[in-house]
Order: sequence, then structure tokens, then C-alpha cells
Amino acid sequence: ILSGKTALVTGSTSGIGLGIAHCLAAAGANLVLNGFGDAQQALEAVRQHGHEARHHPADMSKPEEIAALMAFAESEFGAVDILVNNAGIQHVAPVEEFPPERWDSILAINLSSAFHTTRLALPGMRRRDWGRIVNIASVHGLVASAQKSAYVAAKHGLLGLTKVVALETAQTPITCNAICPGWVLTPLVQQQIDARVQAGGDPAAARHDLLAEKQPSLEFVTPEQLGALVLFLCSDAASQVRGAAWNMDGGWAAQ
Ligand code: NAD
Repeated sequence: ILSGKTALVTGSTSGIGLGIAHCLAAAGANLVLNGFGDAQQALEAVRQHGHEARHHPADMSKPEEIAALMAFAESEFGAVDILVNNAGIQHVAPVEEFPPERWDSILAINLSSAFHTTRLALPGMRRRDWGRIVNIASVHGLVASAQKSAYVAAKHGLLGLTKVVALETAQTPITCNAICPGWVLTPLVQQQIDARVQAGGDPAAARHDLLAEKQPSLEFVTPEQLGALVLFLCSDAASQVRGAAWNMDGGWAAQ
């Protein structure tokens, strides 16, 4: 359903972003990947679906590098039809111990980067008269947890940005929505499990306790399930889903 379309997924060398890139490539899209770490492995994995894939190493905390990423996508493929703002980082500490520079980088990567990619992608989407913007927020865009001030603030902000862009594109074939995942077992969450193991406890118990505190299903959401939801939001059936914050969280936000 996406053949001839180009998708850019930020932070797609691992975790959720890579899972979403897989689903979009399997549906026929060409991919622009972004992120740190082993880009070659991610490229090879995504190319298995038989479409084009490129990687750009932009640091999403730097507006000038984001501009270079968007220019790269446009020069390689003409325009970005599907923009998935996924890059994100976490830091866990009480407010009064939260390092100010971590606050700044979380706001830059988890929130401001989506503003920059969106403002630079919209002209091409308007020109081609079609577009999908999917912001990977979090259940922490809807509710809070202690010790995650920057992350929760950024994700709440991302839902605000999502709604504004949805209004500004409401009378066009461009939609903008957010997805709010609960726990997904990726490197970002593994760090939090490792921290619990270091504080005492075995890995299986740490995983169980992490889930039991927040996620009633006691099961992790998977990158593949999130990819399937992105694919739905890219479909014609979803053309009137606009400005939504769609949770996929094992029941977390229902409590
Ligand atoms: P991850 O750590 O596995 O992947 C993050 C990706 O972002 C990687 O590709 C990494 O290289 C990239 N990245 C990090 N900093 C970057 C930067 N400055 N510039 C460019 N790329 C950068 O994390 P994940 O769990 O897959 O998280 C992806 C998104 O999903 C994040 O926005 C996160 O907040 C959100 N999310 C994750 C969970 C979860 O439980 N894992 C839950 C809700 C929301």
C-alpha cells in the first residue's frame, strides 16, 4: 500500500524505530533511517524487503543537522511522504537532582526535533498533496511518573504539537497523530531494568516488577505491534484520524 512513498523514521537504528521502519518497508515504502550505532546492520535488515533504504546520522538535538537530514531525504527521494518522529532518550532522577543539561537534551531530542522535522517536511507534503506525520510519544504524554520530569514534559508537549499540526493540516490529505506506547522492551527500557538489577534483585523479577507497577497486561508492547499501528495511520481508512493520541499500553492509562 505504500509503494512509491518515502518514509523517514528518526532514531531507527534500534528499538521501536527499527521495528516501525521494517513494517513500512514491508508495505512498500522507501526508507530514510536515522540514529546512532550500527546503521549498516539496520540498513541491511530493512533492505531485505526489496526497497530503497538510506541512513543519515543527524544528531536530532541539533537543528542544523536536522535540516541536513531533511535536505538529504529530499535529494535522495524527492520528498518525505511519511514522517515518523521517534528518536528519544530518557533520564531518571528527582527534579532537584536532575542535571540541567540532560533536561535540555531531552527537550531537544524528544520534542523540538519533531517541530523541526515537521516544519521542514510539510512543504513537500503539501506539494505532493499527501502526507502522514506520526509522533511516537508515550503513555507519559498522557500521565506522569516520578523522576521523569524532562521526559514527561517533552512527551506532553509532543501531544500538544501533534494537535496543532493536525489543525493546521485539517483540510488537506495530510494527517498528524501521536502514538502513546507503554513499556516496550528496547535498550531504553533495558537500562531501567539494569538499574533495578544493580539496586539488588534478579533480572526476571526486575522485569516483572517494572511491568507490575504500571502495565496491567504484564506483557511488553512490541515494536511490530507499534509498526502495525503506524501502518494503519498511513492507510486511507485512517484519513480522518487527526490529532489523536492513540495509546497502546497494555492498559496503563486506563487505571
Ligand atoms: P532506543 O534507545 O532503543 O532507540 C532510540 C533510537 O534513537 C536509537 O536509534 C538511537 O540511536 C536514536 N537516538 C538517540 N539519540 C539520538 C539523537 N540525538 N539523534 C538521533 N538519534 C538518536 O529507544 P526506544 O525504546 O526504541 O524509543 C523510541 C521512542 O519510543 C522514544 O521516543 C521513546 O521515548 C518512545 N517510547 C519508548 C517506550 C519504551 O518502553 N521503550 C515507551 C514509550 C515511548
